[in-house]
Amino acid sequence: MGDATTTRAGGDVTGEVTDLIQHLIRNACVNDGSVGSGFEVRSADLLAGYFEGSGIDVERYEPEPGRASLVARIEGSNPDAPGLLLMGHTDVVPANADRWRHDPFGGELIDGEVWGRGAVDMLNLTASMAVATRRLAASGFRPEGTLTYLAVADEEALGAYGADHLARHELDAVGADFVITESGGIPVPGGGGELRLPVLVGEKGSCWCTLRITGTPGHASQPYATDNALVTAAEVVRRIAEYRPQTDIHATWRRFLEGMGLPDEMVAPLLDPDRFVDALADLPVGMARQFHACTHTTLAPTVAHGGTKTNVIPDQVDLQVDIRTLPGQTLPDVQALLAEALGDLADRVEMVDSHDDPSTESPIDTPLWDALDRVSKSFYSGSHLVPMLSVGATDARFFRRLGATAYGFGLFSQKLTFEDFGRMFHGDDERVDTDSLRLSTELWEAVARDFLGG
Ligand SMILES: [Zn+2]
Repeated sequence: MGDATTTRAGGDVTGEVTDLIQHLIRNACVNDGSVGSGFEVRSADLLAGYFEGSGIDVERYEPEPGRASLVARIEGSNPDAPGLLLMGHTDVVPANADRWRHDPFGGELIDGEVWGRGAVDMLNLTASMAVATRRLAASGFRPEGTLTYLAVADEEALGAYGADHLARHELDAVGADFVITESGGIPVPGGGGELRLPVLVGEKGSCWCTLRITGTPGHASQPYATDNALVTAAEVVRRIAEYRPQTDIHATWRRFLEGMGLPDEMVAPLLDPDRFVDALADLPVGMARQFHACTHTTLAPTVAHGGTKTNVIPDQVDLQVDIRTLPGQTLPDVQALLAEALGDLADRVEMVDSHDDPSTESPIDTPLWDALDRVSKSFYSGSHLVPMLSVGATDARFFRRLGATAYGFGLFSQKLTFEDFGRMFHGDDERVDTDSLRLSTELWEAVARDFLGG
């Protein structure tokens, strides 16, 4: 097992990428889902300033005031050579400062770790991709294929002012055959002491629905035999929560589990749809949740609005359900699952809104996969890439739908575990160690040189 943290010289790469992520964190581009939030133009300005003097031209795209994305390109010499897009988002989700040990927007460097919202999702990669791109340009790098760096707004909502917009309208600027974005690359010890490096090759879809439950209004002083929409909704919530969709042992799950080098007695039940759910009970809860989500359609009731006044029997409740779909599933499949979950209540429930954003996947028999594998082995000798399905959405989906191969990757030190990283995504006390920042920066430089030629 190679120890990347000691075999490579740090030098000023670490300082440069650390400084950049600290500034990105302090910009606090918090995206709460509203058009007026995010204000990523601050980080687009910061990055434009960072690229100044490097010889790279940057362009800016701002579909709504404040929602700016930045593109920096190193043009390839061969228009037929495949291009590579390194894409990081600049927005972050909100943080509740009362629950953090340090200021979530302070970007403080404490004991070799940078603290703050976005430290692992994904300002670490956004910063390291920028530093690698600038260093490549400064070194006179002239690739055959074009290298594009994209610092994109609005990933944490639906990408409407970021990747979705750019993929629809600005393909000349951001189009590429191959794309790398979040996340992956957290070293996991596998069998034989060799490290496994997960690569996100696909992601589940989301089908966010609003379900309306109706009743009959009346005076709440006489509730006997009334048709109370809130009471019906409570039973709807209970049935959705208790519903157990089938376990789907799909190809990516099988490759992931077999690739991780886990003991056979652990792997066998997790490849058997009849034993899968029982086997989860023996796992740490974070891992069980992840494994369950990888192999099931999930349905989570998350928001309820209903009722008008304490003394009125409610005639309407709107229930929002976060449904995450597996590869191949679309809205009619979701409707069928809901009908099964609701049973005899199905005709009391109307789906009044739905946003179906299907699952996407990329193949692994590609030149980019091979390049990532070669380069990763130069950092962690004997390591293996393992394909993995992301249970959440990333901006990769917009590019996969255009035919690009898109992976989620990065490279981390061994200071934090896979579990730590899972907890910190959108969680409290998010932070990243400076060795991981340096490793990712060096990774992007090496991948660009290996993959793009020149
Ligand atoms: Zn992210």
